[in-house]
Amino acid sequence: MDGAPRTLRCFNERHAAEMLSDDGVETVTSVEQNKVERSIEEVFTAYKQIHSLPQPTLLREQHYLYLKKGLRHLSDAYECLDASRPWLCFWILHSLELLEEPIPTAVASDVCQFLSRCQSPTGGFAGGPGQHAHLAPTYAAVNALCIIGTEEAYNVIHREKLLDFLWSVKQPDGSFVMHVGGEVDVRSAYCAASVASLTNILTPKLFEDTTSWILRCQNWEGGLSGVPGLEAHGGYTFCGTAALVILGKEHMLDLKALLRWVVSRQMRFEGGFQGRCNKLVDGCYSFWQAGLLPLLHRALFKEGESELSRQRWMFEQQALQEYILLCCQNPTGGLVDKPGKSRDFYHTCYCLSGLSVAQHFGNQELHHEMILGREENRLAPTHPVYNICPEKVAQALQHFLRLPAPEDDRWTGASAGDRLSDPASASGSVDNQS
Ligand SMILES: [Zn+2]
Repeated sequence: MDGAPRTLRCFNERHAAEMLSDDGVETVTSVEQNKVERSIEEVFTAYKQIHSLPQPTLLREQHYLYLKKGLRHLSDAYECLDASRPWLCFWILHSLELLEEPIPTAVASDVCQFLSRCQSPTGGFAGGPGQHAHLAPTYAAVNALCIIGTEEAYNVIHREKLLDFLWSVKQPDGSFVMHVGGEVDVRSAYCAASVASLTNILTPKLFEDTTSWILRCQNWEGGLSGVPGLEAHGGYTFCGTAALVILGKEHMLDLKALLRWVVSRQMRFEGGFQGRCNKLVDGCYSFWQAGLLPLLHRALFKEGESELSRQRWMFEQQALQEYILLCCQNPTGGLVDKPGKSRDFYHTCYCLSGLSVAQHFGNQELHHEMILGREENRLAPTHPVYNICPEKVAQALQHFLRLPAPEDDRWTGASAGDRLSDPASASGSVDNQS
C-alpha cells in the first residue's frame, strides 16, 4: 500500500482551527454549521480517546449484511420509494460490487426479472411495475443490469424501444424532460447520455443542442445548476459534467472555474463535502462532488495541463476517507449523511462510491492507491462517469457494440454506422486520464 498516511488529520492539534469562525455575526447558517461541527468534534474526540493509531475500519461485514437483507426485504420506511425501486437495485448492487461481494446467481436472475417488469411497453424503465417510464429509474435499471452483466441481464433491455423513449423526452432546445410531461433538469441529460452510450444507441441527432444547453447551466460560481440561471449544486454539476464527458465536449466548460468551485465544497473541519455553498456536510456528496475530480483531472490533462499530479486527485483524499469512516458508518451496517442521521441505501451507495474515489487514483495503467486504515478497507475502483465498476462498463460496451445500432430514422441524411463517437471513448478516454 503506497501513500498511506501515518497519522489522522483529526489527530493534528491544529485541526480545531479549521472550525467555522462567524466573525461575531451569528446567522441561521452559522448556528447550524456550529452544531454539525460540534457533533463531529465529539465523534473525533471519542475516536482519539480509544485509538492511538490511524486505523479506522470499514465495517464490511455489517454493511454486507445490511445490503444483503435489503435485496430481499425492505422495511415500511421504504414505502415512499415505491416509485424508485430500480434505484434500490442499483444502490444495493453497486455497494456490493464495491465491497467485492458476489451476487448469488438466483438473486441476480430475480433482479433481472423484476427490472424487466419495470420496463415500459413504450420503452425505458419505470419506478415500479405498471408505472410510467422515467429517465431516473431508466438510468438506475440499466446500471443495475450492467453490474449483473449476464446475457439475461443485457437481454432485458429493449434497445429500439429505449431509443423511442429517449426521443419522447427530448426537447427542441437540446434538454430532456425526466418523463413525458415532466420537468427539465440536467439530471435527464446525464441519464439519457449514460444509458444511450452504454447500450450503443447514441446518435448525434438525439443529443443535438444538448451540449449548448448543459453549458448554459454553468454559472458564475463555476458549478452547474439544475437548469440555466439557478444556484450551482453538486448533484447537477456531476450530471452535467459527466454528460459532457460522454458527449466528448467537457473541454467547453470553464474547467478552472469548475475546479475552484468543487474543491471549495470540501469542508475544512469535517473533511466531507457540502452540496452547495453555505450548506452542511453530507456523505452522499462524497461521490457527487469528489467524483468530479477524476473527470476534471482527465479533462485538464487533455487540455495539456502539465502540472497535474500523477498520484493524487485535486482534493484531500485522506480527509474524505476520515469523514466517511469515522462519521458516516452506522455500527450495525449501512452509511449515513452525517452523525445522528439514519442509514439508507442511497447514502450507503454514495458514501462507498466516494470512499472508492478517494482510495484510487488513475486508471489501469497508472494506478495509485491511498487506503486510510487497514488494507481490508480497500474497495473496488468505480468508473467516474457511470459509477459502476470499470470492468462492468467495458463488458457492457463490448456486448452492445456487437449488436447493430438501432436505425434512428428521426435522423436523416446519415447512415446508422455514422455515429457521433465510439461510445467506448467515454471510458477509453477516462482510462487515459494521465
Ligand atoms: Zn445526502
